[in-house]
Amino acid sequence: MVGPPKETDMFTPPRCPNWRCSQHRLPTPRFFSRHGHYLARCRPRPIPRFLCRACRRTFSRQTFRADYRDHRPDLNPLLLRSIASGVGLRQSARNLHLSPRCTELKFRKLARHLRRLNLNLRGNLPAGSSFQLDELETYEACRNTRPLSIPVLIETSSRFVIWAEAATIRPRGRMSPARERAIQRDLKRHGFRRDLSRRGLGRTLRRGADLAGDLERVQLDTDCKSSYPGLAREAFGSKRLIHSTTSSKLPRTIANPLFPINQTEALARDLMGRLRRESWLVSKKRRFLDLALQVFMAYRNYVRRRFNRDKASPAQMLGFVPRRMAEGELLTWRQDWGRDSIHPLAG
Ligand SMILES: [Zn+2]
Repeated sequence: MVGPPKETDMFTPPRCPNWRCSQHRLPTPRFFSRHGHYLARCRPRPIPRFLCRACRRTFSRQTFRADYRDHRPDLNPLLLRSIASGVGLRQSARNLHLSPRCTELKFRKLARHLRRLNLNLRGNLPAGSSFQLDELETYEACRNTRPLSIPVLIETSSRFVIWAEAATIRPRGRMSPARERAIQRDLKRHGFRRDLSRRGLGRTLRRGADLAGDLERVQLDTDCKSSYPGLAREAFGSKRLIHSTTSSKLPRTIANPLFPINQTEALARDLMGRLRRESWLVSKKRRFLDLALQVFMAYRNYVRRRFNRDKASPAQMLGFVPRRMAEGELLTWRQDWGRDSIHPLAG
């Protein structure tokens, strides 16, 4: 009989995973007892089990992992790398020998996990931080009838992507008779398409305000869109806000003050196949685009270097994490207990 592995001694469950249990929210130090271990086909070593003394439910170290209940956890980092590199879901499925449906479900699970991780790992921005905001346009399902606007907010010098989420907008631009007919058909099928871009912008700016706690002055750079000043004052407060605008007619070169946000948007279009122009890839629904944006943010902020010549990632530059992380390190511990979740870099 193989004795219990070393890891059994190392891992201490931080809480009872049963959310109805008293030891879930406020665990006492020795709320559990050891309860043997089990062997999993996808793990080289036995996995320790525990028993909660309060609710008498059993759980294991695996209960706290992000790949809890996955059949092929070994493919998660590969799939993440693939999706974060602009490869579509179907092609990723072919490359990894997974079914398209399995790939889709894995993508959603990974992305929901990364959304929590994105929110858990951030803190207050250091002094001297500043913001840039812009919107990029794309669509869900049909370019002619179902356009979307994505506000993107970054911290300027680190290129940390603070938030991006898609909002529905009304179809606009040149209207051919065929397009008018398509819009009428869409109206019958989905109802009136509301313009929710203001709401999305407000939410995105508030995500920035959440991180601006300690800043005495908030520098925000945008283009000259008329709705930005009001929304920015609402989010950051007019007292400390310094809002500079740049005409979007200026050439988008490195000399343009909005180069950092323009570059981030170009990166997003490159790394998210569904945002590429003239691409077959498309988001069928807005909520899946939002999930893909979370994958992009996680990859941009924690995995990729700020510039190719840098060693550090944007999140590292802001002091949110001690070092650059690999794809697999983003997918270690579950992040669904908010900031009390186990840190993804914990051993
Ligand atoms: Zn319990």
